[in-house]
Amino acid sequence: QPNSPEARDIRYHLHAYTNARKHQETGPLVIEKGDGIYVEDAAGNRYIEAMAGLWSVAVGFSEPRLVEAAARQMAKLPFYHSFSSRSHSPLIDLAEKLVLMAPVPMSKAFFTNSGSEANDTAIKMIWYRSNALGQPQRKKIIARKRGYHGVTIAAASLTGLPSNQTSFDLPIANVLHTASPHYWREALPGESEEQFSTRLAGELEQLILAEGPETVAAFFGEPVMGAGGVVVPPAGYWEKIQAVLAKYDILLVADEVICGFGRTGAMFGCQTYGIKPDIIVMSKQISSSYLPISALLINDRVFEPIADESNRIGTFGHGFTGGGHPVAAAVALENLNLIEERDLVGNARRVGAHMQERLRRLAVHPLVGEVRGVGLIAAIELVADKAAKAPWGSVGALGGLVNGLLQDNGVITRNMGDALAFCPPLIITEKQVDLLMQAVEQALDAAAKQVAK
Ligand code: PLP
Repeated sequence: QPNSPEARDIRYHLHAYTNARKHQETGPLVIEKGDGIYVEDAAGNRYIEAMAGLWSVAVGFSEPRLVEAAARQMAKLPFYHSFSSRSHSPLIDLAEKLVLMAPVPMSKAFFTNSGSEANDTAIKMIWYRSNALGQPQRKKIIARKRGYHGVTIAAASLTGLPSNQTSFDLPIANVLHTASPHYWREALPGESEEQFSTRLAGELEQLILAEGPETVAAFFGEPVMGAGGVVVPPAGYWEKIQAVLAKYDILLVADEVICGFGRTGAMFGCQTYGIKPDIIVMSKQISSSYLPISALLINDRVFEPIADESNRIGTFGHGFTGGGHPVAAAVALENLNLIEERDLVGNARRVGAHMQERLRRLAVHPLVGEVRGVGLIAAIELVADKAAKAPWGSVGALGGLVNGLLQDNGVITRNMGDALAFCPPLIITEKQVDLLMQAVEQALDAAAKQVAK
């Protein structure tokens, strides 16, 4: 139908992260409504949203208290900003809450609108700090292959995925990448997790020495990599990496955009893995993505030189019009209150353990090469040949097939290549996990039949 939402979407809308040519033929999935862990499309089909949208809707898709918090703030003060010492109550309350709930001592919160902006902001703070300390040569930033930090010019440079870099002439200067901690894919034959972690920490140290330690300012990492395929750190990884960073006085930025606020079964991924960052980047579950907001927490090592420098030159010249928007801040505050009141972190730990156990039972399936995850985030790595860890035709073909079969059966997941991710809202129950797992088992069996043809 020429004027259906689908037809108009094809006519007028260029989609994020979508094959633009293919979309012209296949069209969109138009989601109209949300209800708990479910969303409903225009035709009335219900789906378990097993990705919490984009790893982000902690409290589910129909939380009235967030709607009320937004409406109250919208009526009282729909916009204000934080430039030139201006402030407003929701932002003061949120800054205080975040600093007090931080997993390590933090000094200040700074507000932005997206994970990408927050990571760009972190880079600018780090460069500004190096200048303030009289170390203008200290500008290099090390991130990791398979890491995901966003899509703006600097954040996309940190992101260690080829699709974010080739065709965009990225990374920018001063951004380097070290190995990803993907044990199943990248360990040497016979190498234990500890040995793999030791080798990766050694490679990081070699990179730092080759570049000159006095030129390296910071290391960025997600506690658990999300968009790179849910890569859980191998045993000893963060401890060994942090020892290298400490040796050369290099700042550590923890990108908690996915892990933050309960995903790993602790409030922060840093707590799950004993990470002690100087900067924490947060977004997504901070507001359950009901409105866009993101934040950075910085410690005194970062704040003090920034304060000194802005005293000298007059100002820290950085900020976004909508950064820390009062309505988004009010929603974030209420969302964090809900996460605490309903013990959604505990739920992520308990129901997460159940989900991990159910997923691990799939490891015997002929198409499942590996199951990995922690708390309520996981992936199964799909293979056509287990022993060779080989894909079915091209990489992503099997992931796409299973993802499509699941969608046809009322489950929304996401395949990053052949890694099929699960990251449901933190409110999910054990019974709902069982429903999800039934659908996954059916989709895998149906896919196995097609692969066998
Ligand atoms: N950092 C991580 C770990 C992410 O997963 C994402 C988005 O998925 C980002 C940063 C970028 O956030 P945004 O899409 O809000 O710019």
